[in-house]
Amino acid sequence: MRLAQRVEELPAYLFAEISRNIAEKRAQGVDVISFAIGDPDLPTPDHIIDALTKSARDPANHRYPESEGLLELREAMAGWYKRRFGVELDPQHEILPLIGSKEGIGHIALCFIERGDVALVPDPGYPVYAVGTALAGGEPYYVPLTEENEFLPDLDAVPEQIARRAKVLWLNYPNNPTGAVADRDFFERAVAFARQYDIAILHDGPYSEVAFDGYRPTSFLQADGARDAGIEFHSLSKTYNMTGWRIGMAAGNATVIDALMRVKSNLDSGIPQAIQRMAIAAFEGSQDCIDEHNRIYQGRRDRLVGALTKLGLRIRPPLASLYLWVRVPEDTTSVQFATRLLDEVGVVVTPGIGYGPSGEGYVRLSLTIPDERLEEGVRRMESLAGGWAQ
Ligand SMILES: *Cc1c(COP(=O)(O)O)cnc(C)c1O
Repeated sequence: MRLAQRVEELPAYLFAEISRNIAEKRAQGVDVISFAIGDPDLPTPDHIIDALTKSARDPANHRYPESEGLLELREAMAGWYKRRFGVELDPQHEILPLIGSKEGIGHIALCFIERGDVALVPDPGYPVYAVGTALAGGEPYYVPLTEENEFLPDLDAVPEQIARRAKVLWLNYPNNPTGAVADRDFFERAVAFARQYDIAILHDGPYSEVAFDGYRPTSFLQADGARDAGIEFHSLSKTYNMTGWRIGMAAGNATVIDALMRVKSNLDSGIPQAIQRMAIAAFEGSQDCIDEHNRIYQGRRDRLVGALTKLGLRIRPPLASLYLWVRVPEDTTSVQFATRLLDEVGVVVTPGIGYGPSGEGYVRLSLTIPDERLEEGVRRMESLAGGWAQ
């Protein structure tokens, strides 16, 4: 048989490789501590699980769901947008539930990208933006996010002929992997750029509720003109510790939502209804869990930033997201640094190069690790101290 070239050309999924390395070390008997993967360690709150157990026994939830999701769910999502961001959305035309936001982020390329089209993607960035583009036959163009520019893309630096070929601009704030945040003013500049070149903006915002020091992240849809320019992806994964249940949404421009709905209705049959009931409970129930989780993450952030700074590494404490983006010592690559930590002390961090060429020089540490494992990880890194300065 002959596989399609698009499959042959797929890059190895970064985390698959990391998992393999970890498995190898564990097989050798090493007690590996992983700061690599952004997957909340805390359980899904009880009141959300209760909605699942209740609806699991209802035969109405045993049949094919509708692709566009329960109207009640779309109304709950619209209600949340209104309460949280003051953004009014029409649940019939401006919201589409997704089987986790990654699913929609991958499929949306089919709505815009034809052979030879360009997608502007952040570098470093979540790998799915570029991979979805490539699977649809297009070309990702990497827009660097640099520390000098607060990890925001310099849209004026995108070459004119690239901007003309581009169909979409991907943005992601609070940002994975850099932890950077964006304000309304930045989003409005992006809208102006998108209007100039007739580009759709696709904003990925799964970390809008993971924030510290009282900071409240902005929704792209709060920007003037956002609804004409594009959509925002959102997820319950990081907000309510629901990565395993697979549910998220797209919200905003009705034409884009309709296009994504048409693609999806031909490929999947929606989200299991009992899980849709969990999402309704999450959006409409008490939001106290969000502050509780953030307090825990903030404590871990402070502990790690303090320890790593003492060890001579340079970090800016993030205001949001689940990640520390740490500069590695001069004369070391991100892979060398990560390899050394794994080989010498059994600690896993993600090399920045895995998120794109501009990720070189950094490693990413996730805050989704239980406190006692974090402490042990810190102790082990301290045992290497002095070692990595030279
Ligand atoms: C975790 C993550 C997602 C995916 O979330 P799901 O809804 O679980 O698919 C999307 N984008 C970014 C940047 C993420 O870090």
